[in-house]
Order: sequence, then structure tokens, then C-alpha cells
Amino acid sequence: MFSRLSGVFGGSENAMKYRRRFALLLSTVFVGAMLSFLAGCGTKKPVRREASFLRLFDTQTTIIAYMDDKEEFSRYAQMIYDSLDEYHRLYDIYNSYDGINNLKTVNDMAGKAPVKVDIRIIDLLKYAKEWYEKTDGAINIAFGPVLRIWHEYRERGIDDPENAGLPPREALEEAAGHTDINKVIIDEEASTVFLEDPEMSLDVGAIAKGYAVEQVSRMVAEKGFTSGLISVGGNVRAIGSKDGAGTPWNVGIQNPDSGEGNAMIHILDITDASVVTSGIYERYYTVDGKNYHHIIDPDTLFPSGEFKSVSIVCKDSGMADALSTAIFNMSLEEGMAFIESIPDAEAVWVLNSGELRYSGHFRDYLNK
Ligand code: ADP
Ligand code: MG
Repeated sequence: MFSRLSGVFGGSENAMKYRRRFALLLSTVFVGAMLSFLAGCGTKKPVRREASFLRLFDTQTTIIAYMDDKEEFSRYAQMIYDSLDEYHRLYDIYNSYDGINNLKTVNDMAGKAPVKVDIRIIDLLKYAKEWYEKTDGAINIAFGPVLRIWHEYRERGIDDPENAGLPPREALEEAAGHTDINKVIIDEEASTVFLEDPEMSLDVGAIAKGYAVEQVSRMVAEKGFTSGLISVGGNVRAIGSKDGAGTPWNVGIQNPDSGEGNAMIHILDITDASVVTSGIYERYYTVDGKNYHHIIDPDTLFPSGEFKSVSIVCKDSGMADALSTAIFNMSLEEGMAFIESIPDAEAVWVLNSGELRYSGHFRDYLNK
């Protein structure tokens, strides 16, 4: 139904022109079977409002709230859209925008000079560095050179499936020599970022969407949007409860093998928390009948092979995004131990066999 734009954040220039027109396309369409909302029983239930738009972070964004006042909802939805759009531009590694230095600028200036950037870039990079340390390198935003090779092969393979091929191992290994996150130099006082190695580049695809959604959710909640749901692709952030009186939101976790009648593996009861999934079905291409997805194991330099998806539930959607990708790159045992070491974070794995595995308290979230 919706065509993907190229690239991780590859909003095309043409799409930009239609931004306003697409901005608040009010729709009653289900969010790609990702979200399910059960009806309450009160008779004076507020009206369910929904706004959807397509061009941020190369995926579909949906905002939902139960709110009688249509104008009020539109105001909040516009506020969320505008703020997400700013993050989208700042964190874009493929496109430049007039008047701002974004991550593409930082990448273009690798080895040349520090780039003065918005505080939101500094904050994201600091956050990403923290998660690199915590996950022992399972997610590395300096992994750009390797990810770029896979990205090119994937794009070409999708455009021309007959001639789809795999990146040569030597090219991947060469690129892996330029992924040292310690060479991402952040000067907070000067508000600059410098990539010391001219061959290096940043790719924040593992973390930026969730991080942006978290910041925007906090901002809009402070402005009075205290019950709502924001979904950017697989990143769902529930703000408060559905009705402001404690009724949880119902958020579905997509079945990686979804066909007729089995679209979701679970529906969760979620209040003021996030649900984020990393899955092999989101972005992949096929070579000789085998699928190659977009989460790359830093050890093998190939797509991680053990799971179909990993979903995380925790309050902060930046953390959920970081965790879902990082745990995807760990063995089940490592990932289980890691998630159990983090208070208030839970995970469900869909193994290649289709079997499910749960962290200790994941089942507490299952819809009752
Ligand atoms: P999605 O963005 O599709 O929802 P993820 O949050 O799991 O899914 O992020 C996947 C993206 O993360 C990839 O498209 C790529 O840009 C980036 N990525 C893949 N492997 C790694 C890695 N080992 N370290 C850091 N980033 C990665
Ligand atoms: Mg992620």
C-alpha cells in the first residue's frame, strides 16, 4: 500500500514539497496491522482520532488519541509532526537541507573539520555512545562504512533481483577498519562533532527513530497531550493511558510470518511505555533464494542469523530502540542475561524456528 522511499531516512526532495499536504491526512486505516485498539464499555467514550503521514524516517507515522475536540487533536498532531520532522532532518544521513548542518554534513566533513551542530545531534550521539558501551559494541553508530555497503547491495538487489549479489568479504572487512566509535569526537562546549577518520561515517538507523519519538513524546506530554499513542514504523510510544483514567493502550506485536489470521503474536496492555521491534521482515533483499536483512552483526559483518524478531517493552522508546537492535545482535543467552540486568525492560524473541522466548516478566504485559 505504501511505497518505501530509498534509504534509512531517505525522504525524497519531491516528497518534501508535499509535506504539508500529507501532514495531517486523517485516516481510519489500521496501522499495517501493528496496532489494535479494543473498545471500552463506557457510553460517553471520547471520539477516537487518528492522523497518519508517510515521509518521516522512511516509514509510516501514526498518532492516535481519544479526544472529543477535533481541533485540539489536530493541533497536537501538527506539533508532533513538526517536531519529528526537525529530528528527521537533523538525523538524516542521505539528504542535505538548506540552513542546517545534519548528520550528512558531519559525514561529509569526516577527516576534514568539526561541524557545528544542533544540541539534538550532540544528545543523540552521546546517547548512542552510552549504548555502545553498555552493549559491548552490539550497536555501533560508527558502523556506517559497513552498513553503507549492505545498503547499496540491498537497494540494487531490490531494483534488479535477477542480478542481486552479496558484498565481497574483503570490501566489508576493509570498511570495518573504519568504524572506531572513539573517533567520533564530541565537543559539547563548542557544540561540534568531528569524525577523525576520513573514511568513517555515522549511521544512526538503530537508535534515532526511537530516540526522536521519546523526546517528542515528552515535549508534547508537557504541553498537555497526556493520553496518546505515537507510532513511527515499529516504534510505538504510549503516552499515559488510553482514557487518562488508567485503561491501557493495546499494542500488537507483529508476527514475522504474518499471513491471514495470524497478524500478531501478542497484544499487550501498555500504559506510558514503549514497544519496539527489530525484525528480519522489515528491510531485506534476496540472493539465490536466501533473504539478507538489515541488522548487521559487528563480529561476522553479515546479517545476524538467530532470530526473526526481537521486541522490547520499556518506558523509554530510545532505550527500547537501542535494545531491540542490540539484542538482535546477541545470542539468546547473552540477550536474556542482558535484558534481565536492566530493571523494567522486557523482551520477546521469535526464533528462526518460530518458537517464542520471553524474559522474566514479559508475560505481565499480555492483554488480559
Ligand atoms: P528499524 O529501523 O528497521 O526499525 P532497527 O532499529 O533494528 O530497525 O535498526 C536497523 C538499522 O540499524 C539498520 O537499518 C542500520 O541502519 C542500523 N544497523 C544495523 N546493524 C547495526 C549495528 N550492528 N550497529 C549499529 N547500527 C546498525
Ligand atoms: Mg533499533
